[in-house]
Amino acid sequence: MFELRDGFGRKIEYLRISVTDRCDFRCFYCIPKGYKGFSQPESWLTLDELERLVRLFSELGVSKMRITGGEPLIRPDLPDMIRRFGALPMLEDLSLSTNASRLTEYASLLKEAGVGRINVSLDSLDHAVFYKITQGDLDRVIEGLMAAKAAGLHPIKINMVVMKGLNDHEIIDMVDFCIKHDFTLRFIETMPVGATGKSATDYFLDLQEVKDDLAKRFKLEPAKMKGAGPADYVRVRGTNLRIGFITPMSQHFCDTCNRVRLSVEGTLYLCLGQHDTVELRPLMRSGASDDEIKQALQDAIELKPKKHEFQSQPDNLVRIMSITGG
Ligand code: SAM
Ligand code: SF4
Repeated sequence: MFELRDGFGRKIEYLRISVTDRCDFRCFYCIPKGYKGFSQPESWLTLDELERLVRLFSELGVSKMRITGGEPLIRPDLPDMIRRFGALPMLEDLSLSTNASRLTEYASLLKEAGVGRINVSLDSLDHAVFYKITQGDLDRVIEGLMAAKAAGLHPIKINMVVMKGLNDHEIIDMVDFCIKHDFTLRFIETMPVGATGKSATDYFLDLQEVKDDLAKRFKLEPAKMKGAGPADYVRVRGTNLRIGFITPMSQHFCDTCNRVRLSVEGTLYLCLGQHDTVELRPLMRSGASDDEIKQALQDAIELKPKKHEFQSQPDNLVRIMSITGG
């Protein structure tokens, strides 16, 4: 059985693919205001190239993939892509992250095409706050979420980036909303990535505080969740709600990191918080055989750094989250 291990013995079994760096929203912590540096179509991997890479990764033991972006649902060929990835025999788990703005049109297609789980970003239930953060339309997102539920996509995880003084007053509303609709809720700490890093850290809130506050109102029990990754989960007693806390800043989880990220241009990002990357597009277009590409992937994984340095060097990176895929 093939497997990818990095220089620190960590098994790499999870690939996140940013299938476009573009988005119909402009979350201020993700894409900087007025950003014009989006990649151009001529540098995008073709669907055939993406599928080949995904297959080769899966043959090396990477059995979990998440399609993300940018906003993946703005790609017109997304259903075809998911069908093709979903048909790869070694791939066990295919999931999607979306802002849900187009989920109403896509929910049934995604279900039919084999997407197991979806994560939906939802930072606020208040129209004005939602618009301030995302410049998007909250009604379309809620409609999209309801369509996903009706199509039978399960579990649906809501990702809320919690920001002090901006949306932290909505935590209980979000808990109630997720109990009502049988969604899983995940709170995320803001990370200082991209040129927007500073504005994101200005709103930073340690999620331990959120957990402590919730524990005063609800009985929280430790919980397990399939595909939990770095999230630490609790269950709200007396309900089906599970809440995950993703704390890249206050408690980093680099020791158990099992993932790498691929951009639409074929750049392999070995760590969200470091500069280490490997360009796969030239290799894909060099006529390399499957074995040669697999060897290159193994060599690349060896370079995965030990940990991010968001705390000690918050200005280290000027990288846009929609390129690396969060
Ligand atoms: N457009 C999709 C969405 O919003 O879910 C997928 C891509 S988005 C880059 C993936 C995740 O990254 C989202 O949950 C978003 O909240 C998160 N994200 C983006 N920038 C972030 C930052 N600076 N700190 C923490 N999370 C961030
Ligand atoms: Fe778009 Fe998602 Fe980034 Fe928001 S977080 S700008 S929805 S890619």
